[in-house]
Amino acid sequence: MTIARVALPVAADSAFDYWLPAGLAIERGALVRVRLGRRALVGVVVDIVATTNVSPEKLQPVTAVVREMAALPADLLDLARFVSDYYQEPLGLVLAQMLPPFGAEPAALARPRAAASAQRLTSEGRSALPQELARAPRARALFEQWCNAPGALLTGDDIALLPSHLKRVLRRWADAGWIEEAAEPRQPSSGVPAGGRMLNDDQRKAVAAIEAARDGFAPFLLDGVTGSGKTDVYLAAAAACIARRRQALLLVPEINLTPQFAQRIADMLPGRCTVTLHSRLAAGVRRRCWRQAADGAADLVLGTRLAVFTPMPRLGLVVVDEEHDASFKQQDGVHYHGRDVAVWRARQRGVPIVLGSATPSLETLVNAERGHYRELSLPQRAVAPARLPEIEFFGSRDGAATDGIGGKLLAAIETRIERGEQSLVFINRRGFAPSLLCSSCGWQAGCTRCSARLVVHRDAGVLRCHHCGHAERLPRACPECGNVDLQPLGRGTQRLERALAQRFPAARIARIDRDSTRRVGAFATMRDRVEAGEIDVLVGTQMLAKGHDFPRLTLVGVLGADNALYSADFRATERLAALLFQVAGRAGRAALSGEVMVETDFPTHPLFRALSAHDYRAFARALQAERRVACLPPYAYLALLAAEAPKRDAVDAFLAAVHMTGRDIAGDECSAVEVFPPVPAVLARRAGMERGQVLAQSADRAALQRFLPRWRSAIAARPGRRVRWSLDVDPLGFA
Ligand SMILES: [Zn+2]
Ligand SMILES: [Zn+2]
Repeated sequence: MTIARVALPVAADSAFDYWLPAGLAIERGALVRVRLGRRALVGVVVDIVATTNVSPEKLQPVTAVVREMAALPADLLDLARFVSDYYQEPLGLVLAQMLPPFGAEPAALARPRAAASAQRLTSEGRSALPQELARAPRARALFEQWCNAPGALLTGDDIALLPSHLKRVLRRWADAGWIEEAAEPRQPSSGVPAGGRMLNDDQRKAVAAIEAARDGFAPFLLDGVTGSGKTDVYLAAAAACIARRRQALLLVPEINLTPQFAQRIADMLPGRCTVTLHSRLAAGVRRRCWRQAADGAADLVLGTRLAVFTPMPRLGLVVVDEEHDASFKQQDGVHYHGRDVAVWRARQRGVPIVLGSATPSLETLVNAERGHYRELSLPQRAVAPARLPEIEFFGSRDGAATDGIGGKLLAAIETRIERGEQSLVFINRRGFAPSLLCSSCGWQAGCTRCSARLVVHRDAGVLRCHHCGHAERLPRACPECGNVDLQPLGRGTQRLERALAQRFPAARIARIDRDSTRRVGAFATMRDRVEAGEIDVLVGTQMLAKGHDFPRLTLVGVLGADNALYSADFRATERLAALLFQVAGRAGRAALSGEVMVETDFPTHPLFRALSAHDYRAFARALQAERRVACLPPYAYLALLAAEAPKRDAVDAFLAAVHMTGRDIAGDECSAVEVFPPVPAVLARRAGMERGQVLAQSADRAALQRFLPRWRSAIAARPGRRVRWSLDVDPLGFA
């Protein structure tokens, strides 16, 4: 009898055995349909064997083979195994994570291609469609894809592959004038050299070094100040890789924020087949892109962290842009770090990998110091006249503060408005004010389900919890003492927007945060307006910090920077530094020089001194020294076991046992591992659940890796299912 060992998308440590009916030919990596109890599931065949321990009467058959998906190649199965072992995640869940959504529309790819012409989104469409699509998620996904496509153009092939209900939608959009026919993008014959701008000396050297290392695993840190043209290096290296008939994989932190990227690729790699992969693509499109990568038709795969799992038979180069960015780490479901998995994959496939950043993570810097990664640097800004901005500091009690905006900053904004230049005011808090306070008895509005304050959202007239989504009406009087004088405390983006509008009534002010961009396409529209010079002052959260070139932006104000300096999270200052250096890089990127004004009461903090000197490395060195003393990453390895339950007692008892078990295992044979006593989570209560955690730490990664599977299986074997828990290996922070 032939037995298929199938990894299923369930939280189980091992694969499940099924017998293979005669006539069903399969191979390792094939996708099969099976039953588990009453559920019909799709799993991946990880092995084919002749015997099983399952008794014959219990052994079930493989129901069918999923033919619309090719079998996963062996290197992807190995990659899944690595992720499963390293991150302590069930193999079946890891494999499920790797695959695009499938099965719902199996016929989509078999259908012959109808002759459809390319369609471009019109500007009317761009402004009218967002309202139309509020309740149509699938059409909305299509619209977003359109907004982010190069030239707002979907090709005839893209359109031919859409399911029929979306094609009907398109006919309606065409009738309304929201889309129009357009010429197909040029498809020059192969062998055309990459276009785009000329590379400077540093860029050329970097590309040559990457290309010279093409025959084996070679990790590079590409360290380039903001605006130094890292993207040109990536794309030139990709072009060289593709010219050798190999595939390039380019990972970026957030694809919806970087449509310029797709445009640059189209410009620099004309005629090459580029596919995009991220979770917000329509399922059919994502399947098609995945398959084009898997069968080798795609030359370049551009995607977010999940694209690291794309099968690519001719892989020749991996690039991770903004490698320090926290969004490469998946925080829920299967915990994995896309950048670290990318490095493993490059080693597995024996190809170069480029990690690019203006503010490299400490992990990557230490790897470079130790000689594991080779460093390439781009010290100059690519556009010749652009200079690094002046950095200035002002105190939180600076002069005539208007709703929390210092007088100096207001004066600087005024000058920009007069000159017709743009300003950006940045604060990492959305809403109107982070809290509501009774001036008489000291009551503050808190969330009943979380250990957190409720945020004032004045426009909507509500108090909202940013952790669980709970919302309630703004009270007219204090629920404790009846006092009607309730004060919004602190400042958020909405409050700043209002204050600026009052101070500069003629200025065109826009706010960009999660609330203002919730409507589909709103972000793209706002970005277009900024680029077109229709905005004078932008107020927003960190959404603004990533990858945008606004040539008329000459002033950046940063408020509330001190919040992160004394945070309980050991990575908070590193993140703040990355953010400040990025934001500073936004000012004065073209011909106009820029200025950055940071509100802080600690201007001599090493971070701010380094910022003034435009010397990220100086700050990184200070931070490295701190981490080394404190035995924190990258000088130690961590695993965080987090647990939650409705009752505090249950969490505490569970974590006490988890701690004891861990200490026993560490004491027996993993003495290099230290297991710390349980502590409440930073947010001790969220959405009605009490939360806590236990940290395991070791200076020896291998020792921690030996310890973790034993610890996890001991915890999993405990009776009692009242407590939800998860293990996060290499956590980015303490939740
Ligand atoms: Zn009161
Ligand atoms: Zn809440």
